[in-house]
Amino acid sequence: MPGSFKTEAVVLRSIRYGEADRVLHLYSANRGRLGAVAKGVRRVRSRFGGRLEPMARVKLVLHEGRGELCTVTQADTVHAHAGLRSRRDSLERGVQACDAVLRLLDTTDPNPPAYNLLCHELALLDVEPRAAARAQALAFRAKLLLAAGFAPELASCASCGEREHLSGFSPSAGGVVCSACEAGAFPLDAEAHSFLVEAMARPLPDFPSASEPALRQADRALAETLEHHAHVRLRRVAA
Ligand SMILES: [Zn+2]
Repeated sequence: MPGSFKTEAVVLRSIRYGEADRVLHLYSANRGRLGAVAKGVRRVRSRFGGRLEPMARVKLVLHEGRGELCTVTQADTVHAHAGLRSRRDSLERGVQACDAVLRLLDTTDPNPPAYNLLCHELALLDVEPRAAARAQALAFRAKLLLAAGFAPELASCASCGEREHLSGFSPSAGGVVCSACEAGAFPLDAEAHSFLVEAMARPLPDFPSASEPALRQADRALAETLEHHAHVRLRRVAA
């Protein structure tokens, strides 16, 4: 039904459209994924200024017509994340975070934990240069899987329920596996296992640290869980 509505959203991606417009992929607080056209946004004297850049958190008024895309009629900045944009490594992590949300959360079902997580991640990257570390990016990804309903089983063997001798990770079983159920699994050392457990349990700014080999294993566990269960392929989190 045509009409206008208000929402808060993060701009995940912005694509040139026509002479002066852009199509925005938005992740909104109360309507999940939305697509919207920002008319005239590429003109020098656009009424939106630079407020609709990727990674910006904005308050929007959107007009819903008959087509698939809404039209942006008003945009106010909640958080521009200027600090994040000033550092290349922070910027890359911010782009990665938005890309992960873009691929993983593609329905109009609202997911407030996922929305809040993305907002916290961008705000953290904005103020804390050390948050551009690989361990932090993986902690965000682990928490995003949790928010999206794809968290791997980490407490006991995903095949038989055994709580001891957990030595591997099986993407098809959906989590850690014991030494008796290792077929089709790859090694997940104790350090990588506890990294994943702590990453999901702790608040984002208190992300755990681990050695590079452990982070590589954790990265693989998260990526292959998504490939297997969400049919989503994310780029691995580079060091
Ligand atoms: Zn088992």
